[in-house]
Amino acid sequence: MDFAFSKEQEQFRNDVRKFLEEELEKGTFEVKCNYFLEESSPEFSRKLAQKGWMGLTWPKEYGGGNRSYIDRTIFMEELMKCQAPLMYHFFGERQIGPGLMHFGSEELKEEFLPKIINAQISFCLGLSEPDAGSDVAAVITSAREEGDYYIINGQKIWTTNAHNADYIWTLTVTDPDGPKYKNLSEIIVDMKTPGVTVLPLYNMLGVHSFNQVFFDDVKIHKRYLVGEKNRGFYQMLAQVDYERAGIERLMQNYPLFANLKEHVKESHLSSDALIRDTLAQLEIEFQAGRLLIYHVAWTIDQGKIPNYEAALSKTYCTRFEQNLGNIATEILGPFGHVMPGFEGTPLNGDAADSYLWSPSYTIQGGTSEILKTVIATRGLGLKF
Ligand SMILES: Cc1cc2nc3c(=O)[nH]c(=O)nc-3n(C[C@H](O)[C@H](O)[C@H](O)COP(=O)(O)OP(=O)(O)OC[C@H]3O[C@@H](n4cnc5c(N)ncnc54)[C@H](O)[C@@H]3O)c2cc1C
Repeated sequence: MDFAFSKEQEQFRNDVRKFLEEELEKGTFEVKCNYFLEESSPEFSRKLAQKGWMGLTWPKEYGGGNRSYIDRTIFMEELMKCQAPLMYHFFGERQIGPGLMHFGSEELKEEFLPKIINAQISFCLGLSEPDAGSDVAAVITSAREEGDYYIINGQKIWTTNAHNADYIWTLTVTDPDGPKYKNLSEIIVDMKTPGVTVLPLYNMLGVHSFNQVFFDDVKIHKRYLVGEKNRGFYQMLAQVDYERAGIERLMQNYPLFANLKEHVKESHLSSDALIRDTLAQLEIEFQAGRLLIYHVAWTIDQGKIPNYEAALSKTYCTRFEQNLGNIATEILGPFGHVMPGFEGTPLNGDAADSYLWSPSYTIQGGTSEILKTVIATRGLGLKF
């Protein structure tokens, strides 16, 4: 087995790094933990599109780069190091576009793929509901047929980016009498359609990244049904593996990790054996997580769906992210609890920021308990 990157891949990494250094010099964005998730910047996303870096793994016929998932992981790793603002195009490029390529009609592909790859539209994902999260097949938002239209009623929750998105990709009940799992369909809804209301939700940092979305008699033409009617649950399952697979699951707080190591090295803290031991342990976990993620990318490049592999790496990496927040606040003592924005706070307040963000990492994109069930059943073949 050869773990080395090719010369082309190293060159690509350097090109991305150079571009990001230039953008940081221009002040396009600041290096701040969790920024990639909080910030939606159409301008920055369009710069990536102009460089030809959007849709790296998409086929050429859809304007993509036809490159490997390893290449995409290299690209994302560099962006994550400085937390470049990606939210504007993140869902569209990562899973809506590939979902449309797999399941969408030619008409839908023509309408949406060029706009996604050129960063002209932004998407959000409307799966979870107040009583349907882990058991997402329990959604009750309904899409009733009326001639050529669906009339959608219901509510989504925790919808990241709904306040900036142009479209929401929803999972809705299209056969109220049908059996569970075989009664759901995926429908794309324009957020400007009458009857769509977005209300903000603030997390415990006071950050507005997710929302509630309400649908009151929202009329959507049937051409916006994605794939097969009543097969939406199974289509969605194929998409979530890609959602779980990325290096963002490990590196949402990379600036904190890098700065914490420097801070300890340059201060008296370095002489504390317990702190040295703790940082060494974190380094082991980070490096192991990185290998797991590159293994997922390699698995996808072999043409396999990374079901068990993605569940395994997300469970492991999000645990690292939580450990990092805990350890950083402990090492920094009382100052580790001071939020960003206060003068003299070590590491820009990133320790407190990351600590407060960290409970969500093992929930979003599938909780660790659910992922361990995937590992146990589909990976290890253990039966219920
Ligand atoms: C930051 C953030 C962003 C998010 N963004 C989005 C988004 O953009 N779009 C979207 O649709 N959703 C989004 N979500 C929602 C997320 O997908 C759900 O929160 C998640 O699937 C869990 O669902 P729940 O919150 O309803 O918890 P529940 O499913 O009610 O689970 C509660 C607890 O019970 C455990 N549990 C549940 N069932 C089982 C079981 N069978 N076995 C063992 N344990 C179980 C869970 O692990 C959890 O600990 C986001 C969540 C967060 C935190």
